[in-house]
Amino acid sequence: MVPVVELNDIAHVYVTDREASLAVEGIQLKVDPGEFISLVGPSGCGKTTILSIIAGLLAPSKGTVSLNGKSVNGPSSEVGYMLQQDYLFPWRTIMDNALIGLELTERLSPESRSVVENLLKEMGLGESESLYPSQLSGGMRQRVALVRTLATDPGLLLLDEPFSALDYQTKLQLEDLIVETLKERGKTAILVTHDLSEAIAMSDRVILLNRNPGRVHRLFDIPGNIRAAQPFYARKEPGFNELFHEIWEEMQAIGKEGSQ
Ligand code: ADP
Ligand code: MG
Repeated sequence: MVPVVELNDIAHVYVTDREASLAVEGIQLKVDPGEFISLVGPSGCGKTTILSIIAGLLAPSKGTVSLNGKSVNGPSSEVGYMLQQDYLFPWRTIMDNALIGLELTERLSPESRSVVENLLKEMGLGESESLYPSQLSGGMRQRVALVRTLATDPGLLLLDEPFSALDYQTKLQLEDLIVETLKERGKTAILVTHDLSEAIAMSDRVILLNRNPGRVHRLFDIPGNIRAAQPFYARKEPGFNELFHEIWEEMQAIGKEGSQ
C-alpha cells in the first residue's frame, strides 16, 4: 500500500537575519490511506512546521516528503488545510466562502456547487447559506471552514488545532462531526492538538513529539474499541483513561526536559 504521506528524515531550520534555529529533526512518518493521526507535544515542538512541510508550503531543509508516492514540491489540491482561525472572508456570504477553493482552482460548476450545497446542509448550515460570517457562532464558522476544505475534495486533511477557539460543548460536537464526515468519505487526516483526550478520542494513532529540536518521541496505537467509538463515547471506553495517563506521563517528562 502506498502511504498517503511519507516523511523521510525531515529536518527544518528557520533562518532569520539574527539566527538560525533547528525546529525539527529526524522526522520519519508514514500515514496510510484512511488513517486519522494526531500530533501532540509541547508548544514549539514543530507541529505546525511539520504540517506546513506536508502541505508543500514550506520546503524542508533536509529530507524528502511524498504524497501518494509522489515527491512534494509545492502546494497541491490533494491537501486541504484547516486552521484554528477560520479565515472566512467577512464580506462574502457563507455560500461564497464555501465556494472559494473551487473558484480559485477554476472548478466551480453547477455540479460542484450542488455538492457544496449538500455539504452545508449536512453540516446543519443549510439555512445559513446567505448569511455573513459575523452572524454565525464560532462552531458554525468552523463548520463552514470544514465545508470549504472539503469542497475541493482533497484526499488528505491537515487540521491545525481547529477546535482550540471553541467552547467545550461545541468542540465535542465538532470532533464527532469531523471524524464521521472524514471516515465516511475515506479521507486521511493529520490533526494537531494540545488536547490529549481529543487526540486519543479521534485518532487511530497518536504521535508524541519532543522539542529542541522537535523529534518523534513515541507512537501510540489506539486500541480498536476506542477507535470504533465516536469521539464523545470513546472517552468512556475501557482503557481510555489508562492510555491517557501513560501518554500524559510521557508529556510531563518531556516538559521537564525542555525547561531545564
Ligand atoms: P508548534 O506548532 O508545535 O507550536 P511550530 O512548528 O510553530 O511549533 O514551531 C517550531 C519552532 O520553530 C519554534 O521554536 C518556533 O519558535 C520556530 N518557528 C516557527 N515558525 C518560525 C518562523 N517563521 N521563523 C522562525 N522560527 C520559527
Ligand atoms: Mg502550532
